[in-house]
Amino acid sequence: MNNTQSATPLLRIRNVAKAFGPVQVLHSIDMDVAKGEVVSVIGPSGSGKTTLLRCVNFLESYDSGSIQIDGAEVGYRDAANQQRRGERDLARMRAETGMVFQSFNLFPHLTAAENVMLGLQKVRGKSKKEAREIAEHWLNRVGLGHRINNLPSELSGGQQQRVGIARAVAMDPKILLLDEITSALDPELVNEVLDVVRQLAEEGMTMLMVTHEIAFARDASDRIIFMADGKVSAQGEPKDLPALVAENERLKAFLSRFH
Ligand code: ADP
Repeated sequence: MNNTQSATPLLRIRNVAKAFGPVQVLHSIDMDVAKGEVVSVIGPSGSGKTTLLRCVNFLESYDSGSIQIDGAEVGYRDAANQQRRGERDLARMRAETGMVFQSFNLFPHLTAAENVMLGLQKVRGKSKKEAREIAEHWLNRVGLGHRINNLPSELSGGQQQRVGIARAVAMDPKILLLDEITSALDPELVNEVLDVVRQLAEEGMTMLMVTHEIAFARDASDRIIFMADGKVSAQGEPKDLPALVAENERLKAFLSRFH
């Protein structure tokens, strides 16, 4: 973690707007994430948090504005543009923004190691041997060295999610996007996943995470962004939350649900 905001942000989102049919889901979003920074996005259900992450990861188009990573334009503003880029190109760009999903999204017929290896071989062009070594390294790092040959169905939810994290970081992304990664877990499995995230944060991984774990967000983030109705409604360092709450009724109402 660091608190330097001065350098060019690693992720720079400007004026991004997005509608699904008549529903305006994102209104002119501006958001920066500096290299090494950990930013948590919180907010009520339906406020556009997941849609924003999906725009950064090319899973969703946006209507206007710009999204840059390391100064290069990413994402796409229309479906035709997406098709022009082709799947392989998209997969390569997606690897720069490793994403971990609420529902794990592991391939059920592949072992933990094979799930991690797949992108390394197909997208990063690693040999099978290299991919296996990298997969073993990262599965060890998330505490699953003894589970590398297990299928997802043989793993707990917390273990599956740790494979999901290993799969994303093994690709050496510039930024890790975490979308409510503990929401589908039984409460007793949440901490083993948050511990892995905390460790990555301490090692300097740049992260943008959508989370309902408010205590964790306060504890592990450099900055917290509160979204409401498709807009950035408030943002600041965790220590500034009381002051932000004092001047933002929506934030106050939202946080009061967590006490
Ligand atoms: P959050 O992550 O904050 O809960 P979302 O980004 O999931 O919010 O959703 C924001 C709004 O966009 C919601 O009203 C949701 O119903 C709508 N939405 C999300 N995905 C789609 C979709 N594929 N088609 C139509 N509406 C969608």
